[in-house]
Amino acid sequence: GSAQVMLAANLENWFAQVKRPMPWRRRPSPYVCWLSEIMMQQTTYAAVLPYYERFLEKFPTVEKLAAAKEADVLKAWEGLGYYARARNLLKAARLITGKRTPDRFKWPKTSAEWAQIPGVGPYTAAALSSVLSGERVPVVDGNVARVFARVWKLTDDFSKLPARAKLSERLQPEIDRCRVPGDFNQAMMELGALVCTPKNPDCARCPLAKMCAAKKDGSWADYPVKKGKKDLPVRKVTSVIIRDAKGRVLLVQNREGGLLKGLWELPTVESAADVTQVFSHFKLEQANFKAVRADAEFKDAKKVPLTTATRKALGLR
Ligand code: SF4
Repeated sequence: GSAQVMLAANLENWFAQVKRPMPWRRRPSPYVCWLSEIMMQQTTYAAVLPYYERFLEKFPTVEKLAAAKEADVLKAWEGLGYYARARNLLKAARLITGKRTPDRFKWPKTSAEWAQIPGVGPYTAAALSSVLSGERVPVVDGNVARVFARVWKLTDDFSKLPARAKLSERLQPEIDRCRVPGDFNQAMMELGALVCTPKNPDCARCPLAKMCAAKKDGSWADYPVKKGKKDLPVRKVTSVIIRDAKGRVLLVQNREGGLLKGLWELPTVESAADVTQVFSHFKLEQANFKAVRADAEFKDAKKVPLTTATRKALGLR
């Protein structure tokens, strides 16, 4: 129907107006787009910018990156966190430049090819192939799922892959009729990031407001539905990340039983008495914590089985 035709057009027109001048949009190439996508995983645009410029100065081409020492790449990544991303980036650069036809190497083109690259998940693969090769494949991340859960009042649990796959199918005819698939995808992501935010959607500025079912009855806060999470009791712990000079991490072995038994995790701490101390120019207020267990050991986090929470805390995949 006409509402459907409007969806893609409204998104693209809106995007043309709000498009932020991101440096990788100035001169899009596979290398800068890929680099920026990896940097933006788990990090905001504003935080990424200075690192992006510095990284490109150091490694201006994928060949330069592929030839670099891992320690230098990690150094350039310092401050961005989640070092697994930097390691994957280097591994991927070597893989990509190693795939040479007689005169030059070949970048991945389709999202299926991109998804073979270390550190590139289905979401990043779709974003890259649509922007760089014009492939008509919709991106579905948390932001996009939130927008369309509201527009179409979808009650699926989008933390689950099948629900995301279903939404991707539903978005397929939309991206099929858009003008520029890369813009369509970026528009969806930007809409989720800038307008249809989790807590304060700015419906007055939203290009989809006219066709949004949740806006019509003001029920946006109910979407996306968070299944089975509402009544869970909350357990709060404070864990510490301590590394030794070899990069090993201080860990304890879980002995609670159940699924986590035997896995390694970050040691937890509990409050100990605070201390204050008055100096001549300032007053020191020191909050203290003490370890809950005394049997923590430094371990190579890559070599021992970790709990999911610990993997996440350490930025490992
Ligand atoms: Fe989100 Fe409001 Fe736009 Fe609906 S109209 S998609 S709730 S910002």
